[in-house]
Amino acid sequence: MKQLLANLTNFINKDTASDNESKKMTVLIRVLCLILMIFFIVCFFVAMIGKIRYGTAVNLLFIALFGINLYISYYGSKLVSVWSFIVCSVAWMTLSLWVYGWFCGSQTFLLLLILVFYFSSFASFKRKIVFSIMDFAVYMTYYIIFSDNVPLSQLDSTQRLFIRSTHMATLVICMSVLAYLFSRDSQTMESKLIEYNRRLEEKASVDPLTGLYNRGKAVELLNELVDTSKLDSFSICICDIDFFKKVNDKYGHDVGDEVLKMVSKTMADIISGYGFAARWGGEEFLLVFPKTNGDDASTVVYAIQSAISKKVVVDGSDEIKVTLTYGLTEYSANITLDQNIKDADNKLYLGKERGRNMVVY
Ligand code: GH3
Ligand code: MG
Ligand code: MG
Repeated sequence: MKQLLANLTNFINKDTASDNESKKMTVLIRVLCLILMIFFIVCFFVAMIGKIRYGTAVNLLFIALFGINLYISYYGSKLVSVWSFIVCSVAWMTLSLWVYGWFCGSQTFLLLLILVFYFSSFASFKRKIVFSIMDFAVYMTYYIIFSDNVPLSQLDSTQRLFIRSTHMATLVICMSVLAYLFSRDSQTMESKLIEYNRRLEEKASVDPLTGLYNRGKAVELLNELVDTSKLDSFSICICDIDFFKKVNDKYGHDVGDEVLKMVSKTMADIISGYGFAARWGGEEFLLVFPKTNGDDASTVVYAIQSAISKKVVVDGSDEIKVTLTYGLTEYSANITLDQNIKDADNKLYLGKERGRNMVVY
């Protein structure tokens, strides 16, 4: 059964590997042809057993016509296969109304045709509107001709019930397949778009080397913090790796990058729960501590300093250790954010002047 299903899926999807809309329409036409052919085969046997006049001939004719339509969907253009589906369907509806009468309900397939035409991409919107009007005109013509017409076949009540219910069931199945095929793809597309936007946003806000927020995102978050923490104090710290140029000069840029990653990871691990770290510039970082005064923030900064002093980056037989100098300040609402950052920066340079590897607060 599984194998049969897999074979059928392969057969329907043949030559439609890519996911664009025209392939989707081809798949739809193939599935609709197959459903209708099954429907005609069932009706053919019922017509034969029930000796419904003209029933066998009509069903045989449409098994063949929709079979040809299926063939066209493999070897003809999409435009031809959609139009041949529409023409075959109209021919079938007309004959079916003539043979069985208005009650059989085949005219409701006109609704399916509107959807098929609207979902196909080859026609302009104007043509689609014209198609709707034509579709309605066909419906009214059917109504005028067939609503009071005596059908060719006189059916008993069981046959009427069968004809009506199979027509309606087939229409429901066709509509469901169409809705499934087109809504499934739009849903996948929507979730792809959401994911794509998320990744774009992440790319725009995360530093690719260290995985920390970049400067732009840090400024954005700082501004949000200023807006939301009118009553709470918060702290910011700017820190810079000491003599980092020497690391690059001695071990090369790649090893320098490893050191940056080690420092970033250590900072991010320790600050999580208290605030966030961002890459402020080359080997400069910004630490932000929301709802934290300077004293409490300094405890975390000392913990970061201590943790980094214990870490090494190995290069061959060398173990590279680095230190940082930190300038910490508690945010003051009396001056601008930029002035607060400048204050932290000044403290950092004071620390550099005083001999580095220290927290200036
Ligand atoms: P100080 O203690 O005064 O801060 O000395 P320093 O050597 O750290 O400062 P300086 O500003 O002279 O040098 C910083 C170096 O950081 C120079 C630059 O090449 C290096 N750098 C900046 N960004 C990166 C990066 O992404 N990767 C690597 N490997 N090096 C970087
Ligand atoms: Mg430095
Ligand atoms: Mg620097």
